[in-house]
Amino acid sequence: MTITRVALPIAAEQLFDYWLPAGVDAPDGSIVRVRLGHRRLAGVVVAHAIGSEVEQSRLLPVEAVEPLHPLPADLLELASFVSRYYQAALGMVLALLVPPLGAGAAARRSDDVAVRFTEPGRTQLPARLRSAQAIALHQRIVQLDSISPIVLATFDEAERRFFRSWVKAGWLAPAAVPVDAPTRVALNAAQAQALDAILSARGFAPMLLHGVTGSGKTAVYLAAAERFVADGGQVLLLVPEINLTPQFEARVRAMLPGASAVSLHSGLADGERRAAWEAAASGRAAIVLGTRLAVFAPLPKLALIVVDEEHDGSFKQQDGVRYHARDVALFRGRQRGVPVVLGSATPSLESWAHARGGRYRMLALPERADPQSRMPDVRFVDDREGRKREGLSDATLQALSACVARGEQALVFINRRGYAPSYKCWSCGWDAQCPRCAVRLTVHRDARQLRCHHCGHAQRLPGACPECGNVDLLPQGFGTQRLERALASALPTARIARVDRDTVRARGAFADVRDRFEGGAIDILVGTQMLAKGHDFPRLTLVVVLGADNALYSADFRATERVFALLMQVIGRAGRAGLPGEAILQTDFPHHPAYRAAARHDYATLANTLLEERNDARLPPATHVALLEAQAHDRAHVDAFLASARDCAMQCRAGCEVEIFAPVPALMAKRAGFERGQMLVQANRRPELQRFLPAWRAQLATRSSSRVRWAIDVDPASF
Ligand SMILES: [Zn+2]
Ligand SMILES: [Zn+2]
Repeated sequence: MTITRVALPIAAEQLFDYWLPAGVDAPDGSIVRVRLGHRRLAGVVVAHAIGSEVEQSRLLPVEAVEPLHPLPADLLELASFVSRYYQAALGMVLALLVPPLGAGAAARRSDDVAVRFTEPGRTQLPARLRSAQAIALHQRIVQLDSISPIVLATFDEAERRFFRSWVKAGWLAPAAVPVDAPTRVALNAAQAQALDAILSARGFAPMLLHGVTGSGKTAVYLAAAERFVADGGQVLLLVPEINLTPQFEARVRAMLPGASAVSLHSGLADGERRAAWEAAASGRAAIVLGTRLAVFAPLPKLALIVVDEEHDGSFKQQDGVRYHARDVALFRGRQRGVPVVLGSATPSLESWAHARGGRYRMLALPERADPQSRMPDVRFVDDREGRKREGLSDATLQALSACVARGEQALVFINRRGYAPSYKCWSCGWDAQCPRCAVRLTVHRDARQLRCHHCGHAQRLPGACPECGNVDLLPQGFGTQRLERALASALPTARIARVDRDTVRARGAFADVRDRFEGGAIDILVGTQMLAKGHDFPRLTLVVVLGADNALYSADFRATERVFALLMQVIGRAGRAGLPGEAILQTDFPHHPAYRAAARHDYATLANTLLEERNDARLPPATHVALLEAQAHDRAHVDAFLASARDCAMQCRAGCEVEIFAPVPALMAKRAGFERGQMLVQANRRPELQRFLPAWRAQLATRSSSRVRWAIDVDPASF
């Protein structure tokens, strides 16, 4: 009897044995359906055996084999590495590699090709359309030229209905044959040099493409991709945000019209994701574009990996399997012997240190690609001086007003959504706290609510102070809603829109605002960091940054690095197409080194200073750390578990050069009703940490109780 050993998506370490019915074939990597107790689960076959230690009468059969490409050997090896390195159960890691299954996820092959209007579709269809929405959609598709699955994913339900009926009626047909010649972008000397370096790389070659904002990194990636695709290879392109994929997709289409590209991210419907997965697994998709999850896509002909905005925090998964997609991409590049290009205007200090130390090749794009375009001037407005209206200084308002009067556009950036970040009684000092988290509640004035941005708790705005009865309660500080109102009252003729998680919850809402801004229907866009990434608006000449000080003085050791990266990104939005750009930074600390460096557009000096500080403080990347996080309803349970975890670490340290720190409360000591604590383990050398962790984790598993939830975070994003 053939026994298959199956990894299941549960936290337990072990594999489970099932017998394979005669005539059924399930090679390693096959995705199978099995029963575990009362549950039916999908798992991955990772080995075969002749017999099992489980008594034969208790063995269950494999119930079904999914009609999918089995996961290839290299992906099984990748999963095993991720499981070991990030201290996660193999079955949980493999679950990340399996595409959506089930009837609803049946692959729709017609959706993984791009379509465009036929000649009659373009010219005759409009006369038959009645609804304004259909007419607008028609125009949009004509403008975009072709619609790929990625762009389709941004359509709302009504738009999809029109789209499908047009495909059915034959107005839209596959755009397989490129009609237009590819857009040729002339590369400047620095870009050409970077391209040469990528193309001449042999085998695994990690490279850091450090290019200032607007320096044309994408043109370099795509020129390299074109060459690898022409040679029959597949290219994996990772981007930090789902919202960036349609824009990236459009550029791929323009530059490589013949190449088939698919996207893979969690925003896709199951069927779309499964179709994209199969296109990647079969080698049909030459370019796979996606967010962090796409790093696990099956790619039989992988030839190049690109990680755009490699410094971005969203590449790190914060729960479940806590992997970092950039680091997994590097492992994969080594495993498959292909070049890996990490691109950023503000590289992570980890990558910067590797590039300086010679482990990564440094490719620099020091100038903007458009010779007409200059980096914007940066002006500091001292928040402690002068008159202010609702947090906006006179100087800022004048600049905004002048910008709008010139017919240009502005971006006002504050990294807080809602109306105000706290609600306070000035009589007794009470402020509204979340009952379930150790944080203040945010005022949402439109909804007349106080909301917690961490657990979702919401309550009505109280009319009086619950402590002293005072009725003069005041929102304190500023969020996007409050700024939007303040701007509307100060600049009544300006057309203002807001972009944050509250306004773009609906699918396609973000694309809609972006299109309106691009089309000139909006003068001032107020928003959070969603706006900071990758969007190019030619008439955007003024960027205003408010509230950056709060982030700078957070307790997180990466705070300065993050604020600086964000500032460089935001400032870099201004003045892209020949119009001179300006950035205004309202701050209490105009002389802070991070702000000064941002004003000089000088990444290297600040990065080197920060690296020295990290060395002195023995913080990553100078050291390697793992964080044990624990939470429970009762603080005593957290403390007891962590104390025991520390004793246990002392015992199983045996010979490993690791430093074990005392347990402390988490930065947010309570969240969603759970008391939280943590403890840090640190090593000067990564292998020492990796040698220590498995033994410690095995011990913790035997000591934990159901009352305490815990996880080990290797290379945590913050602590
Ligand atoms: Zn009070
Ligand atoms: Zn809360």
